[in-house]
Amino acid sequence: MKELRTQLLRLEHNATILEPNAEVRKKFMNHLEEYAGEFIENLDTDLSFRSDETKDPDRLKVNGQSKDLSEILHIFKEEVDLPGLNPASGGHLGYIPGGGIFATAMGDFIAAISNRYAGLYFGSPGAVRLENRVIDWMKDVCGYPSSALGNLTSGGSIANLIAITAARDHHEVEGAAVEKAVIYLSEQTHHCVHKAVRIAGLGKCHMRNIPLDANYNIRVDSLEEMINIDLKNGLKPFLVVASAGTTNIGNIDPLDKIADITEAHNLWFHVDAAYGGFFIMLDELKHKFKGMERSDSLVIDPHKGLFLAYGLGAVLIKNKAAMLKSHHYRASYLQDAVENDQEYSPADLSPELTKHFRGLRLWLPLQLYGVEVFQDALREKRGLCLYFLEGVRRMGFEIGPEPDLSVGIFRYNPINKDANEFNKILMKEIHKDGRVFLSSTIINEQIWIRVAVLSFRTHVSTVEKCFDMLEDCLERTKSLM
Ligand SMILES: *Cc1c(COP(=O)(O)O)cnc(C)c1O
Repeated sequence: MKELRTQLLRLEHNATILEPNAEVRKKFMNHLEEYAGEFIENLDTDLSFRSDETKDPDRLKVNGQSKDLSEILHIFKEEVDLPGLNPASGGHLGYIPGGGIFATAMGDFIAAISNRYAGLYFGSPGAVRLENRVIDWMKDVCGYPSSALGNLTSGGSIANLIAITAARDHHEVEGAAVEKAVIYLSEQTHHCVHKAVRIAGLGKCHMRNIPLDANYNIRVDSLEEMINIDLKNGLKPFLVVASAGTTNIGNIDPLDKIADITEAHNLWFHVDAAYGGFFIMLDELKHKFKGMERSDSLVIDPHKGLFLAYGLGAVLIKNKAAMLKSHHYRASYLQDAVENDQEYSPADLSPELTKHFRGLRLWLPLQLYGVEVFQDALREKRGLCLYFLEGVRRMGFEIGPEPDLSVGIFRYNPINKDANEFNKILMKEIHKDGRVFLSSTIINEQIWIRVAVLSFRTHVSTVEKCFDMLEDCLERTKSLM
């Protein structure tokens, strides 16, 4: 006993380093502040994209030795910050940009320090209430009833998985029913929905790509036709997936008309608004989302439309029973956890049990800034997209359909040369340049360059920097071909 005690005291002494004292904490914070400050101050002049330029990737190896924080941050900066795309940069105009407002870091910091157990109401009623109030706010924004359930996820992919699973369980698509079940979506549906279908064990369902109109929106007449044919053939349609802001070109499917059809046929209507959802907060764009409030489930990503750092998506589901059927579970070692029917626990609404207290990274900025500044920032992003497209049109580019939100497409049509080849080389030159990052896509076998404006750091000056870059890249491409 005495020997064990002595040994324990020695081990305790070794462990004290894990609880730095005030002086050491201050030193750590100074290093972090210096690192963060320098990172943010340099964003404006730094490149948005660099090809992989590692100095010595071995420095990232975990070799069990302890190092100085300043040395660690130095290695991090060179090996992680430098190579590849910089999503924190306002010049990130590719894919769907994120952002990383400072207040996300403040929320994460407090969440990590307090380490509240946000999975179960019993563990931290306050943390669960806080997350539920954030979800309530999102229900309100999206026109969902207060009786709907929601879950804060790590991102849109998991949020889509939760919704697809609920649709599956509500319609009892299991066993032999799987091979008769039909899911309707479009070729513009985000690929994570296909992944979710597979993970949910629905890989053998019939997947129907609904034809698109000239603006790449779902053709409602075709949807109706397909459903009728499938019904006639003894199949079981159960799910329609629409997008409120496709990733590729940012357009919104005709949600209201789709809702008419899903209601008439008693199908689950899922809307993926991971990218575009928060644009509903703008009065001038609200009408485009008409019908979203009629959906059965909805995915919306605060780490896109609210400019948070990566790590926050959300799913809203109207049918409580369906959502609980997939996820609610009581293990024997949780028998003390009192359930509360006013406050649902995240653990009952998602595959997760112990989880990051991620609601705080959204709750804090909403409390700190209010909502209007986010509306204005989204309004600015949409305006910048239109400003960008008008600028490239004047430079001689062909531009795609008028964007619904803040993603547009454009391409160059060279005289007597293959346009796809030209735009492919132009894209390579843009990545080589790196002042601003753009990405490309293929639509109807044509290569299009995309511009996606969604970083809170993108402003008029960024777009004009991009014009300069495009002029230079266009010159270089012409000389190369
Ligand atoms: C980004 C996106 C997703 C995937 O969300 P993640 O947060 O990247 O997991 C799904 N759907 C759409 C429309 C998206 O834009």
